[in-house]
Amino acid sequence: MSEPTLLDLERASKFSRSLIRILKEFAERNRRITPTSLREALITERILQELLRYDSPEARKALAEIDSSEHLQGFKALFVEIVDSFNSIISREYGEEFSLLRTQIEACRDLEGLLSLRHRIVAFLHLCEQQVAHQRAQYTGLFAEIGRNLLEIEGKFQASLASTQDSFQHNTRFNSLLEGQMQDIGQFLEGNPDLHKLRQFVLAKLESIKSALEKKRREDEQQMAELNRHMSMLLQSLHRMRNEVEQAHRKSNILARQVYLDPLTEVHNRRAFERRIREELSRFHRYGQRFSLILIDADHFKRINDQFGHRAGDRCLKEMVRRIQKVLRESDFLARYGGEEFVVILPGTDGNAAFSTGERLRRLVEKTGFLYRDETIPLTVSLGITEVRESDRSPEKLFERVDRAMYTAKESGRNRSILG
Ligand code: GH3
Ligand code: MG
Ligand code: MG
Repeated sequence: MSEPTLLDLERASKFSRSLIRILKEFAERNRRITPTSLREALITERILQELLRYDSPEARKALAEIDSSEHLQGFKALFVEIVDSFNSIISREYGEEFSLLRTQIEACRDLEGLLSLRHRIVAFLHLCEQQVAHQRAQYTGLFAEIGRNLLEIEGKFQASLASTQDSFQHNTRFNSLLEGQMQDIGQFLEGNPDLHKLRQFVLAKLESIKSALEKKRREDEQQMAELNRHMSMLLQSLHRMRNEVEQAHRKSNILARQVYLDPLTEVHNRRAFERRIREELSRFHRYGQRFSLILIDADHFKRINDQFGHRAGDRCLKEMVRRIQKVLRESDFLARYGGEEFVVILPGTDGNAAFSTGERLRRLVEKTGFLYRDETIPLTVSLGITEVRESDRSPEKLFERVDRAMYTAKESGRNRSILG
């Protein structure tokens, strides 16, 4: 016979309670127990119907036959069946009482004799009921314990998940460990252990799962700490690198300025001019975008230096640049070609327009006397002006023409502009 299920226990317990109640009622009301009265009382109990499969044809036939006292045998069989149905759940220590009761039922010669056993049967059923209740309490306790353990495990597992970012290997190892434990539990359950052994086994397994989890959590934490340490080191070196890059960037900006700027006047230098004139010339040849060039040379600058000193000369050059810039457009490109010579590229400007600009700036320089230590330094400039031509295949060719125009201006008396 297979082990009783919890459902069987439940049904047996309900049935025993019903039977006890019925027998008590009979006793209290001093009612005579006859097969008919007992049958009526019993068949109104649903649990009995279920237990005896009352609606099966055999059961119906058996119950119908209870009416006849000739069928004492059948009634005895019913009692034996009832008692037997509890046999499987009663513990071994009551085994003797059970077999004695069973023998006595079978030995009864009449219904009266059978019914005189009812106190013993009631007591027996009471015992069964208590056992069922006790086992139920034990199961409930075990389930509650397992539930608590599972909650704890779940909590730990979630905490470990939250703290783990990159521990795939750890997780795989841990998962196979967990699966192993679960398989063990499954195999053990297949072997039909008793409640006590089951309890011990399941709790031991849960305990080892818990400790594996705890170990894993510690490993994860260590890994996280290590990771954090690496991260902060990485961040620090990143920070240092960013500072270095910024510094290098600043330095290269300064260098670029130094490479293309004139330190005294802070306009472009000759290197910047040469780069730009090449670009303008190739734009002109490719897209036909014309431009003009003005070369400005301070007149008798040597004399200024001689008369007022080199420092005065320097300040004169700076002031001259300031005035030239006033006349120029945003798009014009002014550079110091060298010494007291300056050059202007005027994109999109033809020779005549460049000549007007040149004249305007020449007059501005001439008109505004330059004051140095209460003395007015007279300052004029001579200008050579030219517009780019198709035949200008190199910047040098263009420059030669503007230089010649400037010398013509010098030769024709200085303080003038010549369009070449
Ligand atoms: P010209 O009208 O023929 O151009 O006469 P000039 O004296 O200007 O011409 P020259 O080429 O003989 O002399 C140029 C002078 O400009 C000589 C040099 O001392 C001066 N000079 C060149 N660069 C600087 C500078 O950066 N600062 C100062 N103070 N003087 C400079
Ligand atoms: Mg000169
Ligand atoms: Mg000069």
